[in-house]
Amino acid sequence: MDIHEYQAKELLARYGVPVPRGGLSYSPEQASYRATELGGTRWVVKAQVHSGGRGEAGGVKVCHSDREVAEAANGMFGRRLVTRQVPRGKCVYRVYVEEAMEIKRELYFGIVLDRSAEQITVVASAEGGMEIEELAAENPQALFRVTVEPAVGFLEFQARELAFAIGLAPSQIAKASQLFRAAYRAFRDLDAALLEINPLVVTADEDLLALDAKMSFDDNALYRRPAIAELRDRSQEDPRESHAADRGLAYVGLDGDIGCVINGAGLAMATLDMIKLAGGEPANFLDIGGGASPERVFKAFRAVLQDSNVKVVLVNIFAGINRCDWVAEGIVDAFRKIDVTLPVVVRLAGTHVEEGKRILAESGLPIVTVDTLAEAAERAIEAGTEVRAAAGAGG
Ligand code: GDP
Ligand code: MN
Repeated sequence: MDIHEYQAKELLARYGVPVPRGGLSYSPEQASYRATELGGTRWVVKAQVHSGGRGEAGGVKVCHSDREVAEAANGMFGRRLVTRQVPRGKCVYRVYVEEAMEIKRELYFGIVLDRSAEQITVVASAEGGMEIEELAAENPQALFRVTVEPAVGFLEFQARELAFAIGLAPSQIAKASQLFRAAYRAFRDLDAALLEINPLVVTADEDLLALDAKMSFDDNALYRRPAIAELRDRSQEDPRESHAADRGLAYVGLDGDIGCVINGAGLAMATLDMIKLAGGEPANFLDIGGGASPERVFKAFRAVLQDSNVKVVLVNIFAGINRCDWVAEGIVDAFRKIDVTLPVVVRLAGTHVEEGKRILAESGLPIVTVDTLAEAAERAIEAGTEVRAAAGAGG
């Protein structure tokens, strides 16, 4: 789960990371009021969307009066901010107003999980402001990394090493090392999966400050971090994914037209590969998980159908803990309770498969049942083509 910049800054500040003073607003009037409240003569108005690259997209504006602040905010509210990271754009409903800083240097600081090494990597660079992926590709020697063993923690000497590596003055090393370790504590304590301060700046007064902040959290840890879970902003999520998440389903939205109901992430990947190999494009996939009840399968089916791009539904279940008869019951239930007009291709294998197939056959519903994944992919693509042709013929 991602959170907004202002939320990340609030969390980081609680751990002792210095951030600029600022105030959140939900309207241009409130934005200008925030500026007056903060005082000073220069402010930065920042669109709060779950994306980086806002600066170049017009989502970060430096202003010199409260009227300018209101105008800048007015230009952002309700707009869909299209950034390099999010080509579909994200809507701006919140704007953050901060005291503007006099910037001397822009640096980069980040913390990520290295899953394969089962460790945490802390990254820093003297080249701030740029996207990390770009920097890694263009100038990898400008990135400095230290690996942190989570059981030991991020040690003082490692933090100092990074601070020196990015060329901070000797007088700034202690401050930087404190900031780095405070950020690390926030990352660990709050079950973050990613933390990025880009840019981390040196101000004209030689202060070190997080000018931008991004944090993402491990969804699987949110149950024990209710205060973090509350920061969720649905307006920034793919509505298809939040609908499913609310029902305890793991859903991934894609751009094609074959909706997929599958059990397990591995089988999902294999199914997507098979669809692509056969020349089709998946619209999404929904993982029903293990031991799914008919009710759960029904909900999964409904969630997949909510995507109007879906032209055909492919159900691929390899039942171990799951039961094919329950899956079949869920599918039949979906046909009864919602008006399913799209073709449905079902491949069932494993536990209670005969019973599952019998339920589907006896339902008398127009369900195409197949035995292999390859066949499922082919039939789904055929059916999708027919639906498109029919829609085209119908006008
Ligand atoms: P992003 O584009 O979404 O990553 O948004 P950032 O918060 O990183 O802002 C983009 C850029 O705007 C920064 O790299 C700075 O160059 C500039 N910027 C942001 N806040 C200030 C500020 O207070 N003063 C000045 N001078 N520039 C700022
Ligand atoms: Mn940034």
